[in-house]
Amino acid sequence: MLASMKPKQRKFSIGYLALALIAVLAFQIPLFGSRAANVSYSEFKALAKKGKVSNLTLDKETISGTLSTDGLETLLSKEKLEELKRLGDGPHRFVAARVEDPGLVAELEQANVKFAGHVENTWLATLLSWVLPAVVFAGVWVLLMRRFGPQQGLMAIGKSKARVYVEHKTGVTFDDVAGIDEARGELMEVVDFLKNPDRYRRLGGKIPKGVLIVGAPGTGKTLLAKAVAGEAGVPFFSLSGSDFVEMFVGVGAARVRDLFAQAQEKAPSIIFIDELDALGKARGVSPIMGGHDEREQTLNQLLAELDGFDTQKGVMILAATNRPEILDPALLRPGRFDRQVVLDRPDLRGREKILRVHVRDVKLAPDLDLSLVAARTPGFVGADLANLVNEAALHAAREGKEVVDGVDFDEAIDRVVGGLERRSRVINPKEKEIVAYHEAGHALVAESREHADRVAKISVIPRGVAALGYTQQQPTEDRYLMTRAELLDRLDVLLGGRVAEELVFGDISTGAQDDLQRATDMARHMVARYGMTEALGLATFEPPRQALFLNVPSMAQREYSEETARRIDDEIRKLFEAAHERVRKTLTAKREVLTSLAKLLIEKEVVSRDDLMALLASAEV
Ligand code: ADP
Ligand code: ZN
Repeated sequence: MLASMKPKQRKFSIGYLALALIAVLAFQIPLFGSRAANVSYSEFKALAKKGKVSNLTLDKETISGTLSTDGLETLLSKEKLEELKRLGDGPHRFVAARVEDPGLVAELEQANVKFAGHVENTWLATLLSWVLPAVVFAGVWVLLMRRFGPQQGLMAIGKSKARVYVEHKTGVTFDDVAGIDEARGELMEVVDFLKNPDRYRRLGGKIPKGVLIVGAPGTGKTLLAKAVAGEAGVPFFSLSGSDFVEMFVGVGAARVRDLFAQAQEKAPSIIFIDELDALGKARGVSPIMGGHDEREQTLNQLLAELDGFDTQKGVMILAATNRPEILDPALLRPGRFDRQVVLDRPDLRGREKILRVHVRDVKLAPDLDLSLVAARTPGFVGADLANLVNEAALHAAREGKEVVDGVDFDEAIDRVVGGLERRSRVINPKEKEIVAYHEAGHALVAESREHADRVAKISVIPRGVAALGYTQQQPTEDRYLMTRAELLDRLDVLLGGRVAEELVFGDISTGAQDDLQRATDMARHMVARYGMTEALGLATFEPPRQALFLNVPSMAQREYSEETARRIDDEIRKLFEAAHERVRKTLTAKREVLTSLAKLLIEKEVVSRDDLMALLASAEV
């Protein structure tokens, strides 16, 4: 489906060259094939005197020309005459070896014989001394290029077309991407702009340059980007960030430059950069001295291109990542990827819609209920569901059935889940319950703390690689200053999940690891960096950020005593204990709401702020 723009390597072998050389040689030697009679110099002189030769060519070493056909008897020996006869009738060419004879020219003039000199032909010498080495050199070059491939060849630098993919018509529309209503609305504007760049130009409106599509692998980021191109009817140029990882310095940057040049030439068009994180990881401390020069150069080039090109031309840049948090902040500044579209793992309804897209070309049993299939596949992303439909159809085919029925889907689910479980991406009902209480705990603590951000959405659908569920809070904008009270409330919210698990199950799971990590970091900062505890006062103890050598932090970095380190740890523990106690109180008081929120989560998978407000309101009466 992807049309590679990689130019076909011209087959250019030394064999062909040799053949050509021989052909040229054959052409240049006229003596091949035409036979001439050899005469002695004295015979030639006699013939010349009688005017029996014409068209003479005087060479350095030979004299050649045409011989008359008659009156030769008296001038040539019997053997020569016979030889001439054997060569046939008509005028003959002859050759005579030249001897030292200064009077020759005068004699020829006297006999009124026409003659010409001959310029030494040096083409062969030229060829040998100049062309041949060049040919050999070229041959060696070609061999080397073959052996090391175009990527490593010196010539490849700057020739970036190799891994730029272009599809002139993606043929994908928004109808092919299901369950993305939010993202769709956001991207309709982009489509509209690409369709009518002139209108936007005239109005002078500010058009977004880049849209970052964020979502777990398989949630349809690439598909969505292609759909934007398909809806707008513009060419789709794409490039994957991971392609740059093992490249020579300079190649990646050249490639990016080229990609933008090509896309601008074909504007309106879309540039899609997959796995932006591979290329756009935050710069900074490099694990190894020198670091990823290549990646940095490529990233710098990308930033330069983003800044340099003019949206008015109608080029839109889409990029995909599943790890927005590690992106270099420079990429997210206004005028770059200043818009974000998040593709969540689909919920129950979303999964059903995606299934409908993929069963379009599958013959289904009339009694098959896709909503039941959707209900059995929590955690599946679009790619998993596409795979599921395919597996079910294959199963039906193996069984020799006419239509795909529920049994086929059951078998396929088991199969796909088996594969996914190994990659730990599917949650079983018990896990789902734990996740539901955990997230409900975060949400309720957040709602009961004055300084915490309000809850926007709670989900028990796995997101990203590690998180099994999440509680999203608004506003999510970056804060530059935070008060102690705000930090403490944040700490409480982070602990909410873990404490809820303790209360409900009397046991705790590994799921809170990320929360605890973040809580610990936060507590440590409060104590050691911001001077927010009384015991240690205003002094800060954070060591300056040091360069890591081979990823091993050096041991001699600490600038404070063991005693201070112990006091810092003590203070962190105290902060934690106090927070734990506060959260425990809060959640014990709200135990019933906690249960009903968790139940709602298990049922609906995603709970919006409105749902949450309704639940809290009904609990208060
Ligand atoms: P990503 O780029 O996020 O890893 P892809 O766009 O490559 O995911 O998705 C892989 C495949 O999964 C798509 O080609 C499509 O068949 C299917 N798919 C993913 N999301 C959806 C969706 N929302 N609707 C329909 N099909 C989807
Ligand atoms: Zn949590």
